[in-house]
Amino acid sequence: MMAQYLALKAEAGDCLLFYRMGDFFELFFDDAKQAAQILDIALTSRGEHMGVPIPMCGVPVHSAEGYLARLIKAGCRVAIAEQVETPEEAKRRGGSKALVARDIVRFVTAGTLTEEALLEPRRANVLAAVCEVRGTCGIAACDISTGRMALEDCEPGRLGAALARLGATEIVAPDGWTACPLDGIPRPASTFTSDGGEARLKAVHGVSTLDGFGQFSRAMLAAAGGLIAYLDHVGRGKLPLLLPPVVLGQAAHLAMDEATRGSLEILVSSQGTRKGSLVEALDRCVTGAGARQLAEDLAAPLTDAGTIEARLDLVQWLYDDALLRGDLRAVLRAAPDVGRALGRIVAGRGSPRDLGQLRDGLAEARRIHDHLQHRQDRPALMDALLPVLAGHGALVDLFSRALVPSPPTERNQGGYIAEGYDHALDELRRISGDARRAIAALEAKYRDQTGIAALKVRHNGVLGYFIEVPAAKADPLMAPDSGFTHRQTMAGAVRFNAVALHAEASRIAEAGGHALAAEEAHFEELVGVAVKASQAIAATAAALARIDVAAALAERAAEGGWARPDVVEEACLDVKGGRHPVVEAALASKGERFVANDCRLLPQDRLWLVGGPNMGGKSTFLRQNALIVLLAQAGSFVPAEAARIGLVDRLFSRVGASDNLARGRSTFMVEMVETAAILAQATERSFVILDEVGRGTSTYDGLALAWAVVEAVHGVNKCRCLFATHYHELARLAESCEALSLHHVRAREWKGDLVLLHEVAEGPADRSYGLAVAKLAGVPAPVVARAKAVLERLEKGRAETGGLAAGLGDLPLFAAAAEARADLVDSLRDRLRGLDVDALSPREALDLLYELKREAGAEG
Ligand code: ADP
Repeated sequence: MMAQYLALKAEAGDCLLFYRMGDFFELFFDDAKQAAQILDIALTSRGEHMGVPIPMCGVPVHSAEGYLARLIKAGCRVAIAEQVETPEEAKRRGGSKALVARDIVRFVTAGTLTEEALLEPRRANVLAAVCEVRGTCGIAACDISTGRMALEDCEPGRLGAALARLGATEIVAPDGWTACPLDGIPRPASTFTSDGGEARLKAVHGVSTLDGFGQFSRAMLAAAGGLIAYLDHVGRGKLPLLLPPVVLGQAAHLAMDEATRGSLEILVSSQGTRKGSLVEALDRCVTGAGARQLAEDLAAPLTDAGTIEARLDLVQWLYDDALLRGDLRAVLRAAPDVGRALGRIVAGRGSPRDLGQLRDGLAEARRIHDHLQHRQDRPALMDALLPVLAGHGALVDLFSRALVPSPPTERNQGGYIAEGYDHALDELRRISGDARRAIAALEAKYRDQTGIAALKVRHNGVLGYFIEVPAAKADPLMAPDSGFTHRQTMAGAVRFNAVALHAEASRIAEAGGHALAAEEAHFEELVGVAVKASQAIAATAAALARIDVAAALAERAAEGGWARPDVVEEACLDVKGGRHPVVEAALASKGERFVANDCRLLPQDRLWLVGGPNMGGKSTFLRQNALIVLLAQAGSFVPAEAARIGLVDRLFSRVGASDNLARGRSTFMVEMVETAAILAQATERSFVILDEVGRGTSTYDGLALAWAVVEAVHGVNKCRCLFATHYHELARLAESCEALSLHHVRAREWKGDLVLLHEVAEGPADRSYGLAVAKLAGVPAPVVARAKAVLERLEKGRAETGGLAAGLGDLPLFAAAAEARADLVDSLRDRLRGLDVDALSPREALDLLYELKREAGAEG
């Protein structure tokens, strides 16, 4: 057995091997140790290997899913080795000692799940393959639980952002790709070729050319090749549902890097939970598929005004007609998750219940179609979705006739094919029904015959049908001519058989076996029908999800008093009465009110410096405007009275280092790396929010950096930007930067206490109120008093020298500084070139070194 185990383990590689033994999956050696620890189950041992006991642990097959889920969550991958023959078959093949043949039937990995129990209903589960072909990265991504597949390519530097948008749970990459910027699971590089990818895609979809699907680059095809080869590997040759790939263009989506996504808390909060995230504050979807679509929309907002308007039109239509919205949501709420049921069916893991879900979901789609088809005022997107909702009439009809109303998840008991669908099956069922009735009649007859009122005909899995009488009454039945044959003596009861009973029992068993086989055959047939129609069914599922999203956004807008944004070309961001949906909801739950604020960035006034006290609402203001842009471009109404938004190509959000302390990555380095990325990438169409950048270092350094960053954003990137800072020295930048203006969050000291008004007003902040905030936070009064004295001293000193930022206004811009540095380098180089080193005395050499150092130090 160990030889068989070790061979399978070699095949499983770095996956944990679930080795089927009877009713258990067993794990051995290091696998056992690892799994026992993660699952918190007992580690035992079995036999010996090379003189040492073999560690072992196991999980029951019937509850394996729960254990699998925990292992996958902990980052493991699992290979399932099943028995592929019965013990009888093994004996026939190789004699009484023969080992049952086992084979790995499937790999279970985070990105290739289809089981309802292992998937989160409201989250897509994305597997991505990445590779590089001649300097271009290709990405192939799919969610096999629904079959959606997308291809894209990008520059290597953008790979991280693209993967962050896709939110992949598992990534595979070619083995030996040393420049790979992330740790994917290595796969043979030979599977990542464009020719191979093209061939695999054609084979999957049974087409001779891919032209009908779109234009794919070589990098995309190579990634697709790697992806399909991996799916083939984990499914052991059985491919899951894959729909025709769609090409995602970089330009089609609002670009956001990982840091931005994290800081805006779009799909998960900074705590790593859905609670506290944008999607949680927004999601009113009534179906899992809708929630997944919404999350996808938020992760990848659009940049094309036409598509955004089409989505907004649909939301508007459902916003205006609350009755229609309510009707649609009621129908959708009852609809099962068609996409995921289909995913399981195509992957060969479907159940009768999944077929029932297709039937019910597609029937609901049809009802929505019928409900909407007479409406004259449908927006264009609805017109496009409508035909997709109908069109499964024949399938729904067939499945309705074939299946019982609520089919079971298990096939082995049968009973899911409806009466009247197959007369032969009905006949078999009638036979077993008759036989059961006959057995009931036999029971009465045997009672009469023996005079034992306590006699019973019973059934169990081992004996089948038998007659049972109390032990005290059993003697007469033991007589050879009694007509009964003894089978088993129990404590207090004795069991018998009889010829007529045996005959009826055989009838039941035979008919039952035939009936099961017949149901099995019908099941396969229905699965075949579903698989054949899988693309059309998936399209219907997607249409339902899109309608759910639009209705949910309309619902949210109505609930929160949100407005339809006006999406324009001009590079502006003009928000009236904007609010932060997450903070507003948090305040509302405490009975507090959110103070709405305007934001008016225009081409001639596109950079706002926002000052004011800590806790005054600066971060909230910055983020709410970034979220409003994101929501608008995802096709949603926005939490504001009105909003005019010039399309944004890239969105950046950065938080100064010390604000990030809680997340344990508060190095000043991270802050600067992220700032560098913005300065390198932001365009005139971008929107940037910078929150206390420069805060992670000493005051002078920080102020200097903040100063230079603002100048660069203003003069070089020329993007729209909100910059929150507590350095009021930066106010002086207003003198040199014409498109920059000063704002502050208002606060007032009232009777010695600080009152934060959370109102954004024009003009510079008068002071930082740091001591007042400290007092508010409960710093002891003597400490605050002492701080006040120190502050007075500091401010006096500063007044005498002209202030921290004295003279900064006259400082040449950084371009000039760079020029000066270049001059210095040139002059140093010239002097070194003209030097005859051999002609110098040691003393002269030393002096020269000092001189050069002085010169360099004076400028650098
Ligand atoms: P800052 O960045 O200025 O330190 P924050 O934006 O973090 O301040 O806000 C601090 C707290 O003030 C928030 O957690 C929230 O409870 C409250 N707050 C912020 N903005 C508003 C607002 N517009 N209306 C009401 N309360 C607000």
